[in-house]
Amino acid sequence: MLPEYADIIIDISHEAIDKTFQYKIPETMRERIHVGAMVNIPFGRGNTLRTGYVVALTNTPEFDVAKMKEIDSLCTNSVEIESSLIELAAFMKEQYGSTTIQALKTVMPIKEKVKGLTHKEVRLLVTTEEARKYIALYKKKNAKAKVRLLKELIEDKVIPFSLVTGKLNISSTTLHALVHDKVVEVEEEGYYRDVIKNELGESELPDTSVIVPNDEQQAVIDKVMADYEARKRETYLLKGITGSGKTLVYIEIIERMIAKGKQAIVLIPEIALTYQTVKRFRRHFGDKVTIMNSKLSKGERYDQFEKAKNGDVSVMIGPRSALFAPFRNLGVIIVDEEHETTYKSEQPPKYDAREVAMERARMSGAFVVLGSATPSVESYYNAMEGNYQLLTLTKRAVEQAALAEVSVVDMREELKKGNRSIFSDELKTLIQDRLEKKQQIMLFLNRRGFAGFVSCRSCGHVFKCPHCDVSLTEHFTGTPNAKLSCHYCGYEIKRPPECPKCHSNMIAGFGLGTQKVEEYVKKMFPQAKVLRMDADTTKNKDAHETILSQFANGEADIMVGTQMIVKGHDFSNVTLVGVIAADLTLFENDYKSAEKTFDLLTQAAGRAGRGDRKGQVVIQTYAPDHYCIETAAKQDYDAFYKEERAYRKLLSYPPFTNVLVVYMEDDNYEELVKLSEALKTIFTAWGAEERIQVIGPCDATIVKINDRYRRVINLKQKDYDALVRIKNLTETFIKNREEFKKCYIAFDFNPTHSY
Ligand code: ADP
Ligand code: ZN
Ligand code: ZN
Repeated sequence: MLPEYADIIIDISHEAIDKTFQYKIPETMRERIHVGAMVNIPFGRGNTLRTGYVVALTNTPEFDVAKMKEIDSLCTNSVEIESSLIELAAFMKEQYGSTTIQALKTVMPIKEKVKGLTHKEVRLLVTTEEARKYIALYKKKNAKAKVRLLKELIEDKVIPFSLVTGKLNISSTTLHALVHDKVVEVEEEGYYRDVIKNELGESELPDTSVIVPNDEQQAVIDKVMADYEARKRETYLLKGITGSGKTLVYIEIIERMIAKGKQAIVLIPEIALTYQTVKRFRRHFGDKVTIMNSKLSKGERYDQFEKAKNGDVSVMIGPRSALFAPFRNLGVIIVDEEHETTYKSEQPPKYDAREVAMERARMSGAFVVLGSATPSVESYYNAMEGNYQLLTLTKRAVEQAALAEVSVVDMREELKKGNRSIFSDELKTLIQDRLEKKQQIMLFLNRRGFAGFVSCRSCGHVFKCPHCDVSLTEHFTGTPNAKLSCHYCGYEIKRPPECPKCHSNMIAGFGLGTQKVEEYVKKMFPQAKVLRMDADTTKNKDAHETILSQFANGEADIMVGTQMIVKGHDFSNVTLVGVIAADLTLFENDYKSAEKTFDLLTQAAGRAGRGDRKGQVVIQTYAPDHYCIETAAKQDYDAFYKEERAYRKLLSYPPFTNVLVVYMEDDNYEELVKLSEALKTIFTAWGAEERIQVIGPCDATIVKINDRYRRVINLKQKDYDALVRIKNLTETFIKNREEFKKCYIAFDFNPTHSY
């Protein structure tokens, strides 16, 4: 049946995204209309014609058809970039489940005025120190106006243009001279703010334009470009060991695509953690590259999208959201560290950025390169099945940089020897050795959460969050600011001096967190300078960059941290990496936990010995025989994959089946149970036809968060589309049921974490 009604959005670049309007589709138009089409519609009281975009088509009217207006006409030959993004939003809504508005908001930035840039400003471009040197120079030349302006700018960095021309009485010639010398810049309304920081060690980065790809890298580049020339559009999986020079391959491919007038999107897991990658691109492509990032203001984000739309940049780097850069001539999408779970969105639509990248590439005639040292099991499976083209880099790019030597220490044996410390004897000796040699050390604690729980040693009372089914964790231990907080809802109390139950003062935190590791290190090696990088120390905007660059500049001997320290960083002076407790992520109740642990261990191992000295890695574990630890120690991905594949197949997990999690949330537990049972009944009925396996309903692992109860039903079926059909049926079903109105329901296909 052809669609009779269309949901239309007007003026997508404005906050109006929150509202769509439904129109009748004239019969003559029904064959041609499609999601993303630009249309003319009568709007408002006066029925003035305005343009809008079709965001959804339907046969069920949402309000009185008699009062509904009709679309006036289709705008022909307007191939707007917005229309293809709206199509992409429709694809995402269908594939992953969400409202139209949620899907649109995912692909469109919201326009907002950039604060502070509505008028002209003058900004200092050099460091304070350099400015002082200029002042000395100008003083010699008796250039008083320049000295006056620079003195003011040393104080304030950015000052209004009106102050410069007014009170400071600086002539435009003087200002121009300073702008020309790149000492200051003038920002005007409509000016795009540059969002890549320049000050941090960029000059130390290798200049990629002088590095010549080695044979392996060249073969990969040639293969990809030959396919492109032959009009073959493929998805490539670039599997290259850590340090094999994947970034250079990306850069060379992009350079060739830019030469063809094409544009590129580079997805990275998280910008703060991959700032070295961003800098390498910046160094190579200069201001042709920009970034997207959740830490940017809405105005800044909007600016970066405008730059892309107007063709002012050719490369967009960023996490998931960079995928929606409105490039009109997109040629290639790179997904670096493709195995990272951050590529899966946590909000509806809970999309997989790799899949959406492939869809966007298909729509734009572009191709996709997925890159990783430890490809996700799904991607490698796809490559083995011939769905992706496998490309490999097997050698480290820097000749002297051999793979690190890895030793596995059985912590049970340490305990038997009477060593109760968190460091094995081997790790202790090696740390001492590196400190003496003035080489750097990374100590890695692979846990997602924080230091365990807090309880009373006398009566066993555990401090729990009153709003969530979790225990509180301690922060700023041993300081007057010590507090207990909930990581799920943010609930926080001052650390109580005594137990509320038995009034004992024997309250203590259990479990191992990075803060504890830092304390141990400081106690054991008082001469060492230690940096810590974890969620607590990186709350502020540029904290990641600051810590990483301090470490890169040799301001510390040891860096202690969570997974954020092992991802992609290239520190040539690090020759020892210690994994404190490798099993922490291994026994989470999640089918991906072995894969995640293997990835982290391999990545950690890849941090050592990047320069010309051989690196060493110590993995401390209580499960030295687990295949994931054994294979990670050998840095043998293929051996890991073989074991993991067998396990997934046996237990029927992705990639051997697809899983749809139907997640439900309600503030009344009894009602939630009733609703989940009702859904189960209808799933079982529909599922029989589609041969879908229904598992559950059951409580989520954490049954209560923020005073809301959570339950899940798992649906399994190899055929992804069958699960999409069930999802669609469910959406329609609950829409018309009063009892489901206040229960929140979300869908998650092949989740990357357990519920
Ligand atoms: P990966 O991302 O694969 O782990 P990187 O891209 O970080 O590896 O490269 C590792 C190091 O090798 C970097 O310092 C990089 O500059 C260097 N490198 C890459 N390709 C070459 C090459 N062809 N010749 C010399 N050095 C290279
Ligand atoms: Zn007590
Ligand atoms: Zn809580």
